[in-house]
Amino acid sequence: MSQPSTFRTADQALVREINLSLIMRALFEHTSLSRAVLAEITGLNKSTVSSLVGELQDMRFIHEAGLTTGSVGRPSMMLELNPQAGLIPSCELGVDFISAKCANFGGAILWEQRETRHSDQAQDTTLTQVRHLLRAAIEGGAAACPDCGRVLGAALGVPGLVDQDTGTLLFAPNLRWENVPLCDLLHEEAGDVPVYVENEANLAALGEYYFGAAQGYDEVLFINIGVGLGGAVIRAGQIVRGKTGFASEFGHMTMDPDGEQCNCGNRGCWETQVSQRALFQHIRRAIAAGQPSALRDHVTDDANHLTVTMIVDAAHAGDAVAQTALDTIGQHLGIGIASLVNIFNPDLVLFGGSLIPAWDTLQPHITAALAQRALRWHANATRVMRAQHGPEATVMGGISVVLQHILHRPASYRAAGP
Ligand SMILES: [Zn+2]
Repeated sequence: MSQPSTFRTADQALVREINLSLIMRALFEHTSLSRAVLAEITGLNKSTVSSLVGELQDMRFIHEAGLTTGSVGRPSMMLELNPQAGLIPSCELGVDFISAKCANFGGAILWEQRETRHSDQAQDTTLTQVRHLLRAAIEGGAAACPDCGRVLGAALGVPGLVDQDTGTLLFAPNLRWENVPLCDLLHEEAGDVPVYVENEANLAALGEYYFGAAQGYDEVLFINIGVGLGGAVIRAGQIVRGKTGFASEFGHMTMDPDGEQCNCGNRGCWETQVSQRALFQHIRRAIAAGQPSALRDHVTDDANHLTVTMIVDAAHAGDAVAQTALDTIGQHLGIGIASLVNIFNPDLVLFGGSLIPAWDTLQPHITAALAQRALRWHANATRVMRAQHGPEATVMGGISVVLQHILHRPASYRAAGP
């Protein structure tokens, strides 16, 4: 008995999409391959490879990159992902900054800009600023690469919980925002292309997995410290999302039931102990208590005069207040990370965000806490490193998420794209 034709058609489309993705991912991983080697790597026969390559060339995702110059056998035509396949604009909306880049399909940065956001700035003003920056990123990218032509997709990282189905920012405690439909804003500037609104830490982890320090690791635990603390887990190249997409909110683990009030409504969350805000708070309180410090002039009226770099420099110069504040943050950071290592058994703990300038001071505390508090089988399997892209990891992650979508579903892109 024959199958109904609708099943057969669906299967064929699915197989074709999987095979197109195999070709794209092989070229992403190996950079440059001949059709014959592509057939070997993917297990597809040569005529199928030639047909799929033709389709991907029509979509401009891959191109021929010249003949091999090897001395043995006939020269082969090499294929590569086409860096000029299009533009990928990506933004991050932080609590105290807005950052944007535009990359080509090869991940090369064509344009970038970072602007300040005042913590009391109105939502409308901030959204206008994001929109202008996204527009500038697309125009700047197009000017730098006239042959790129189209926008492939756009991404925005935000410090909060995002509804993945609608692209709505549900809750951002440190912005004090709720229910903002950011997906619509991206479409207004980027047009009718796939757009992604995503938690900042998830994006930063993905950015490091594709373009930075987490390349080649299987189970990555990412700790992103800015004004607050975000976390992410990347398992086999995919963000671990949980049932409703809100997993890895490590910053809101209760570490001290009677601790500081957190912007999420709880008390004693981990981020009240180890965030940039907590670091500044330590400095302010020590100085208010009369302890001598070179940082005194920077905290007279407004904590925003402080920077992490300023505190690190003061600590290096022997300032006891700065040293104690960094040591306290480092100890609390180590305690939390040791517990997370026991829970997730990662092969890499990656540390990112605006506390990166303090890494040299914080790292010994994390290493000591892992040795003292984590189970040794877990600690022995874990490397701890800082993120390669530092404060730019989230924007790089936005570029990664567009790239990842096209690598895995190039055929659906043609249906959705321009
Ligand atoms: Zn909290």
